[in-house]
Amino acid sequence: MTLSIFDLFSVGIGPSSSHTVGPMRAAAYFVEGLLDGGRLDAVEAVRVDLYGSLAATGPGHGTPTAVLLGLEGLRPETVTPAKVDARRAAIAADGVIRLAGRLPIALTERDVVMHPLTVLPRHTNGVRFTAFGADGAVLAEETYYSVGGGFVEREGDEGAAARGGGGAAITAPFPFRTAAELLEHCRVRGVGFADVMLANEVALAGDGEGAAAEVTTRLLGIRDVMDECVATSLARSGVLPGGLQVRRRAPEWRERLRAADPNGAPEFWQEWVNLVALAVNEENASGGRVVTAPTNGAAGIVPAVLHYARTYLPENGPDDDEVCVRFLLAAAAVGVLYKEQASISGAEVGCQGEVGSASSMAAAGLAEVMGGTPEQVENAAEIAMEHNLGLTCDPIGGLVQIPCIERNAIAASKAINAAKMALWGDGSHHVSLDQVITTMRETGRDMSDKYKETALGGLAVNVVEC
Ligand code: SF4
Repeated sequence: MTLSIFDLFSVGIGPSSSHTVGPMRAAAYFVEGLLDGGRLDAVEAVRVDLYGSLAATGPGHGTPTAVLLGLEGLRPETVTPAKVDARRAAIAADGVIRLAGRLPIALTERDVVMHPLTVLPRHTNGVRFTAFGADGAVLAEETYYSVGGGFVEREGDEGAAARGGGGAAITAPFPFRTAAELLEHCRVRGVGFADVMLANEVALAGDGEGAAAEVTTRLLGIRDVMDECVATSLARSGVLPGGLQVRRRAPEWRERLRAADPNGAPEFWQEWVNLVALAVNEENASGGRVVTAPTNGAAGIVPAVLHYARTYLPENGPDDDEVCVRFLLAAAAVGVLYKEQASISGAEVGCQGEVGSASSMAAAGLAEVMGGTPEQVENAAEIAMEHNLGLTCDPIGGLVQIPCIERNAIAASKAINAAKMALWGDGSHHVSLDQVITTMRETGRDMSDKYKETALGGLAVNVVEC
């Protein structure tokens, strides 16, 4: 099975793909089922139960709001931050949601039942929806798991593909689960990671005339949303929501950088990369519109490294659109490997699965557009993850702010360094990407739950909130 690039790079709202985007999608799917089954108008009440990590950090990650809006039929791909704010305020004032956008049901964030110490057997991010009829009888009950990156799985659908932003998983002409299989496709066809991923994506798009152009257009649309996210963030100021009083730094840094580096001198690359990462993650932390890459918490790394590729690679190289498309395709190919063999969920394997995976994907994208061979691209991805192994998830106050925002900037630099190191080599190396992915998965499995998005360990308990 090969996933769509648009599952890994999907448009959503902040602050968390697993705790905001996924739960909103799950709620919308539940309502879709009520509508399809003709049961919606019989609903008199709805109960929502959040389990495990969704309950432990839920309010900080906006989970209760997300599920209520999902029950109203809103989707993370299309809902605007302004709409979120407006509906959240209206629900709080009226004490009522509009199920599927029309049926009034008494339900507020305070009614969402939290079970932080109860982890359902399949995954720590569990949410259960129950719809009741007039006599209190259960009309429908479904349990979903938000498994990272906005993907959700429904209990009872075991074995089926998780549903992400790009739709169903596909049967691809060049399927791969491992880097070894991906490299073999590259070797046999004499192409790069980006070409294999494009061929699979074109098949998903119908394989007909215009399919390749459609994929390219959608990819450039993803690039444009990343750019818009940075621009929106840089136009804002003040502190981020949530009570930690974390100040937005990117707008002020941009002004200082413009003064210090008016002509785009190469020696300032690090500062600009930091700026892009901070801008994206500050926007994510404020509930803004971002591209999951592959998650919201790690959403700044790919755009920051892509900025480096677009700004600092030789001028006589491919044009900007081609750089963006090849970069995103190669990065997504590596994202598939993490999704297939390990996890991109901080609640499952710690931050190594989010920021580590994003750093690895970005390193692959950069190595690809720097002209790396498939072996060098694989090496770049491996180096980036190898030096993110063991990274824990312990955000202060359950908010995707500290350490998340700065961590994206640091991981972007690691990705750039990893790509440069790989390009200085010949592609041969001791640790394969598959080995490091396996190591990440096993490290995550052995990691204490305190460090897996529960706000029970690390910085979350050693820094006093004020
Ligand atoms: S610490 Fe990492 S995994 Fe945890 S919320 Fe922050 S970015 Fe996501």
